[in-house]
Amino acid sequence: MPDIKPTTTLEEIVSLSKRRGFVYQTSEIYGGLANSYEYGPAGVEILRKIKNLWWDFFISKREDMLGLDSQILLHPKTWEASGHVSSFADPMVEDKVTHKRYRADHLIEAWLEKHPIANPPVIEAMKIEDMNKFLVENKVKSPDSNEINEVKNFNLLFETSIGVVDTASQKAYLRGETAQGIFSNFKQILDSNRVKLPFGVGQIGKSFRNEITTGQFVFRTLEFEQAEIEYFFDPETSNWEKLFKDWQDKMWYFVTQILGVDESRLRWRRHDDAERSFYSKDTYDLEYLYPFGWKELWGIAYRTDYDLKQHMEFSGKSLEYTDPFTMKKFVPHVIEPAVGVNRLFLMVLCDAYYKDEEKSRLVLKLDQKLAPYQLAVFPLLKNKEELVAKAREVYTALSKEYRVSWDERGNIGKRYLSQDELGTPYCLTIDFETLEDEAITVRQRNDASQERIKLADLEAYLQNVLA
Ligand code: ATP
Repeated sequence: MPDIKPTTTLEEIVSLSKRRGFVYQTSEIYGGLANSYEYGPAGVEILRKIKNLWWDFFISKREDMLGLDSQILLHPKTWEASGHVSSFADPMVEDKVTHKRYRADHLIEAWLEKHPIANPPVIEAMKIEDMNKFLVENKVKSPDSNEINEVKNFNLLFETSIGVVDTASQKAYLRGETAQGIFSNFKQILDSNRVKLPFGVGQIGKSFRNEITTGQFVFRTLEFEQAEIEYFFDPETSNWEKLFKDWQDKMWYFVTQILGVDESRLRWRRHDDAERSFYSKDTYDLEYLYPFGWKELWGIAYRTDYDLKQHMEFSGKSLEYTDPFTMKKFVPHVIEPAVGVNRLFLMVLCDAYYKDEEKSRLVLKLDQKLAPYQLAVFPLLKNKEELVAKAREVYTALSKEYRVSWDERGNIGKRYLSQDELGTPYCLTIDFETLEDEAITVRQRNDASQERIKLADLEAYLQNVLA
């Protein structure tokens, strides 16, 4: 296998994000908030586009898919039924001196990278006891080189309360995943839609997890957005292996063809028996080679009828489906492809990051569908009224159809460089010649080449290149 490397370092992505308004640190003026980030004017455009493309591909264009928007706060029993209250936990250790907390599995992973051993353990399959044994036997220290306490489980659910009076308030949780809203609405969806198995329900929304691992930028945050699908089917009439493979193909297609990401930094990783949840028959992670290594981008699991049955037990309501032809009553099985929108975002940013050494510039080679601005319009000089007026005319006309950036500051070379870093595919410059020949300079982002286009032909030209 060729030696594939990440496209860039995390530091470079963080610095570009701050410089150009893709991502900011949350509450920066108060010193920041751990594992929390904001999406700036350029970042929010990409995020929205990713979500729209996901919705369009997985929901709008499919006859067998429905959308949903369930709440962040659900009845607390939901999380007892789903198993999150009892076992949604990460293994954690504490530095005995600084009292900083770390994920035990991440410490082991970092230790193994520095001390390669024959037959290393499969970290994902390690139980708490295995981790403790490993950490003690290998005298693993904290990143600050201090002793650590033994591994304990740390629940990731965020607790809150509903109601103003302390004594009358009810404990609630910010949802740890969007999927449970789909399961708990299953009956209503069946009753209010003419659906026939197999069919799926998808939604995009915020989820919350009390993550303690820091330093992975938007990859791992306390608050994040998930795009999850539950695809329901009858295991007696549908072949789950085929459905599972179809969904894997769709996920791959979405990342490589719709988001335009290079497939050399993508791979599938299958969970082995020890890592997989007890109710799951098969689980794969689609991994991307992020600056900090191969990590889960998108998970897909065959969860059988576990979730619906759990909700039946905890709610006392039937969540069975009746086959309209055979009248057979049963609890459907489900395949769940679940992705974090923010992980898609980080992947897209890393994949597009390109240093053009020859021209000493940094270019974000984003697919034009994802670029925050599709076009930028500049008057060559800002203090020449005729140029500015003409450029404004072009800008106003194009803004009706495209997201256009306007820039008149500084020299033209600097304006090009800043649009390259924003990923704007085309820059249009109005110069003195434009006033004579009604033509403008169109500069392409990827190779910095320039051509003159008549204003009369511009619409057709853009429709062609930005199709
Ligand atoms: P990890 O092992 O990286 O913690 P997970 O296996 O717990 O992830 P799932 O519960 O399968 O993740 O959630 C589905 C998807 O949600 C993941 O594939 C990932 O893209 C996203 N996701 C999970 N946790 C976070 C987080 N803290 N920040 C951003 N995205 C997340």
